[in-house]
Amino acid sequence: MSLNEFPLCDAHIHPKAAQICSHTEFLLFVNSICEQDFARFPSFSAGRYQFAGIHPWQLRKPKYKNTAYYFDLLERAVRRGFFLGETGLDRLHPNFDLQTEYFRHHFQLAQTYRRPLTFHSVHSDDAVLEILEPPYPKMIYHSFVGSPKAAEPFLKRGCFLSFSLRSLKSPATEETIRTCPADRFLIESDSTEDDPAPLLTELLQKAAEQRQISEKKLQKQILTNMNVLIQG
Ligand SMILES: [Zn+2]
Repeated sequence: MSLNEFPLCDAHIHPKAAQICSHTEFLLFVNSICEQDFARFPSFSAGRYQFAGIHPWQLRKPKYKNTAYYFDLLERAVRRGFFLGETGLDRLHPNFDLQTEYFRHHFQLAQTYRRPLTFHSVHSDDAVLEILEPPYPKMIYHSFVGSPKAAEPFLKRGCFLSFSLRSLKSPATEETIRTCPADRFLIESDSTEDDPAPLLTELLQKAAEQRQISEKKLQKQILTNMNVLIQG
């Protein structure tokens, strides 16, 4: 049995990188950065799942103060079948109040339409937790960095944790990579421009080593988890 028996899975990639990814068998969660990324009709074929979202870093642009317009665009994308992301909160970037307003809207759309939601949290876990209210949609905490204690309230709310190279480089996250429940574990390239294959292979190898299971077993588990998210 070879690794190729299951496709490589990427729980967080951006449109340009997904387009250049020539591995049609890969399963990709393609996250928007801004409205150009979800203006078209989604193509859910060949393992590409499209997410509509306005990234918190974008919100420095004055046009996003017109929340009614962008909230409507997002809702229309969700009606066309998009999932939700990337959204979230980031204290290293400006307009935290506006970020909160956008994040809350993405979250409410995920609740209303029962779609998976991918969020980003940098120095903002407390504020993110305030927004996550039941009934919880299926959620992915992308590029998770933090201790098992930091992960706990998110796991309690049903979140999947997605680990990136940034997670691997953080000593505080090592224990969380080891102990995260198998049925909540994901990996991601977070690639904007590059082929995700080498990074996904490296992540899979290192995470399997830390969790003391085979790469094949971990790969199969991640595929199962992504399918749980897709099936809503
Ligand atoms: Zn991203």
